[in-house]
Amino acid sequence: MARANATYYATRDAFADFTTAPEITQVFGEILGLWAAVCWKLLGSPSPVLLVEAGPGRGTLLSDALRAIGRVAPAFRTALQVHLIETSPRLRAMQVARVADACWHDTLASVPWEPILLLANEFLDALPIRQFVRRGGGWTERFVTATGFSEIPSDPPPCDLASIAKEGGVVEICEPANAFVAELSARLMVHPGAALFLDYGPDQSTVGDSLQAIAGGRPADPLGPIGCADLTAHVDFAALAKTARSRGAIVHGPKPQGRFLAELGLFQRTDRLARTQPPRRAAELVGAAQRLAEPNQMGRLFKAMALASPGAPVLPGFET
Ligand code: SAH
Repeated sequence: MARANATYYATRDAFADFTTAPEITQVFGEILGLWAAVCWKLLGSPSPVLLVEAGPGRGTLLSDALRAIGRVAPAFRTALQVHLIETSPRLRAMQVARVADACWHDTLASVPWEPILLLANEFLDALPIRQFVRRGGGWTERFVTATGFSEIPSDPPPCDLASIAKEGGVVEICEPANAFVAELSARLMVHPGAALFLDYGPDQSTVGDSLQAIAGGRPADPLGPIGCADLTAHVDFAALAKTARSRGAIVHGPKPQGRFLAELGLFQRTDRLARTQPPRRAAELVGAAQRLAEPNQMGRLFKAMALASPGAPVLPGFET
């Protein structure tokens, strides 16, 4: 999965295959930018502060965020330095065009240890998982071979689900996501900061195979030609929350993306923007906001989860 996705993001136009929230409406990035600005104030306005995005795609989220920050929170704009965590050279080139004055990193490890505000939309779901299958009272791990999946006897998976999985049940773990959250939490213990993850997955850990491939906007075979489809798995927010808490960070959520965005003014901002537009464009903007927020679209399966330094007040969007 790691190698297939690295090839995929390096060679394909991912955004021809799927659409993400920042590509649906500019209001998404604007809200997240102002979320970061309010967090910065709540954390005591540290300066300098790093505004970090993990997996920035085309750079759309951050360019919308920075525009909104520049207008509404100029002091934050002056204090911040932009750092982008991106492995795809192709997407980095697009990000350069949209976000000036940024530093790029392959991993979180090389980002300086400073006060930090981190945003990540649909980043964790692209990180590679391992799958374990409950078989005959023991466990196997699934591997990919030249001819398909094969299972090799293994130790039980190192997670809470191991004790409840029934025969044939698939348990997934995502070590890179866990390592990312662990390292971020360690940083939040040393410098004030907060992080916001938006991604899709259940709010409780669940047994089941969530690996999926998308190509050309449609479900595809995950074992099809390598690097031709986007491979993702559901994010196990509960496991990540546990990791963060065990390192001392505060965790808010996960809560449904629709409620999170609506409480932060998705519809009010959309209405204001729509008023300045011709009727057709105005209707598009309203439709886009509904797509992000409606429970039967992206509003419920997608979740928002935030981490913060110990002692930080409740972060915006998580008051209820
Ligand atoms: N956040 C963007 C893009 C989501 S697609 C949006 O919402 O539109 C996933 C992004 O994560 C892409 O930019 C991809 O290149 C990046 N990515 C995937 N695996 C990565 C990894 N291991 N390290 C860093 N970036 C990665």
